[in-house]
Amino acid sequence: MGERERALLERIRARAAGAARSGIRVGIGDDAAVLAVRRGEEPVVTTDFSLEDVHFRRAWHPPEAVGHKCLARGLSDVAAMGARPVAVFLSLSVPAELARAAKRKAASWPQGLSWVDRFYDGLLGLADEWQVPLAGGDLAQAPGGKDARVAADIVVVGAAERGRALLRAGARAGDVLYVTGTLGGAAAELRDLQRTPARFRGVAEEKAGHPHFFPQPRVAVGLALVRRRLATAAIDVSDGLSVDLQHLCEESGLQAEVDAALLPVAAGATLKDALHGGDDYELLFTADPGTRVPRRIGGVRVHRIGRMLRRRAGRAQMMLIADGRKDELRPEGWEHF
Ligand SMILES: [Mg+2]
Repeated sequence: MGERERALLERIRARAAGAARSGIRVGIGDDAAVLAVRRGEEPVVTTDFSLEDVHFRRAWHPPEAVGHKCLARGLSDVAAMGARPVAVFLSLSVPAELARAAKRKAASWPQGLSWVDRFYDGLLGLADEWQVPLAGGDLAQAPGGKDARVAADIVVVGAAERGRALLRAGARAGDVLYVTGTLGGAAAELRDLQRTPARFRGVAEEKAGHPHFFPQPRVAVGLALVRRRLATAAIDVSDGLSVDLQHLCEESGLQAEVDAALLPVAAGATLKDALHGGDDYELLFTADPGTRVPRRIGGVRVHRIGRMLRRRAGRAQMMLIADGRKDELRPEGWEHF
């Protein structure tokens, strides 16, 4: 290992050490992390790729936003299970020019921040918000010369109350369907970004109010759903309501009916964005009709948007009620770039 590489790894380690360490007994620096899970809990694990030119573009997305969203996607999956995040692991592979700049700037720190530094800033900023430590990972130079791209693989380990993790398969006929926050905001902002990328250059300084760049995972909501025994099933809205609702229908063996008039469409978004736009990271969940679901959970608004029905042969899996009509709601895939 060269001196510069050592300086870079030391820097990442020093910054990661600043985060809360309650969930880990041994973090970065040993061969593997040792996690502390409480009695009565069971571990929950999720992994997600963030790929350049698939999930983000280096020319459009500030590195802080790429790092933030990389972790937000993992935290959102843990939230959808009703689990608390315990530790984060990141494997990052970057093109040679970014690796060189990172090592150079680490050696002359604090003069200027490299792309890699700023990526970690975004990721660790969100990790601090949820008091979850970066407990390990890897950093490598991507092969492929000029064609090399950034690839980040995040692993989030969580802990759920034993036997109480929220599954997609838990919904029953007659359950009411709810969603948190608003829908379509990320899709609407992505459309604006595609039209006028220059408008979003200062986005890393603002963060709030930019759902495409800095989505907020609903960790507190997921935990409250389990603690207060409110939900029967849950999934996070990562690929778009229509796609994720279909997963819930399939796993629960049910049909769903959504009322367009009840959908919390984000400001600037269309009904289509709310139905099919991806990247919202809200929670979609079901509850028994006898359960009183509060209008606000963990500081986030909750909206009733439809209900779950027994599955009948020859009928569509999802229906949309709009303008007094009932039509089939088809899942529409989420295209990135
Ligand atoms: Mg998910």
